[in-house]
Amino acid sequence: MTQLAQALHSVRDSLAAAAQAAGRQPAEVTLLAVSKTFPADAIRAVYAAGQRAFGENYVQELAGKAAELADLAIEWHFIGPLQSNKTRQVAEVAHWVHSIDRLKVAERLSAQRPAGMPPLNVCVQVNVSGEDSKSGCALEEAPALLRAVAALPNLRLRGLMCIPEPTPDAALLAARFGVLRQLQQQMAAEGMQLDTLSMGMSADMPQAVAAGSTMVRVGTAIFGSRHYPA
Ligand SMILES: *Cc1c(COP(=O)(O)O)cnc(C)c1O
Repeated sequence: MTQLAQALHSVRDSLAAAAQAAGRQPAEVTLLAVSKTFPADAIRAVYAAGQRAFGENYVQELAGKAAELADLAIEWHFIGPLQSNKTRQVAEVAHWVHSIDRLKVAERLSAQRPAGMPPLNVCVQVNVSGEDSKSGCALEEAPALLRAVAALPNLRLRGLMCIPEPTPDAALLAARFGVLRQLQQQMAAEGMQLDTLSMGMSADMPQAVAAGSTMVRVGTAIFGSRHYPA
């Protein structure tokens, strides 16, 4: 078995253990393999080990890899910050976008989704860390944004995403993830069913699963450390 296949299996085992520890079924939590900065060959190896959903942060990189790997049945998730002038390529290539933080981006994705493709699955990214984070819409603005996104024709609103600030404080992490869970329940009370909570990364996967995550986004624990060009 290759090293990447081994790492994938080990992450799958940890995920199953985290689900079990939380009294949940492993099948309730989808594993998204975050492949940003890693070459197409690494994705091929992880795909060959059974992984189908891959996450990318940069538009050019997503478009390049999607073209290079067009022979594989990959489900592409865009999870990075998205500028409104770069939505077209994402609308044409991605199956999911997790990082909707304002209506303009959602409107453009809906308008640019090619006819004949299924609706683009989307999550609204919420800032659950207050002043410690700049990404995601403010919690107070989330309900209105969710209602507006739900009305767009070529998007399928699936749920919520967050990236808490890195912290070793388990109670703080639980509180941050809890904010997303509470928002999901608040929206359910007004009749909006959101089936996805995209939360948890390599460092905080068990805490996210305990807090109700349905999709964890794991990069480092599968692919190794990232090296960014200087
Ligand atoms: C890079 C990234 C991840 C994966 O992080 P790891 O710590 O490498 O697991 C998850 N989510 C988002 C939004 C990311 O940008």
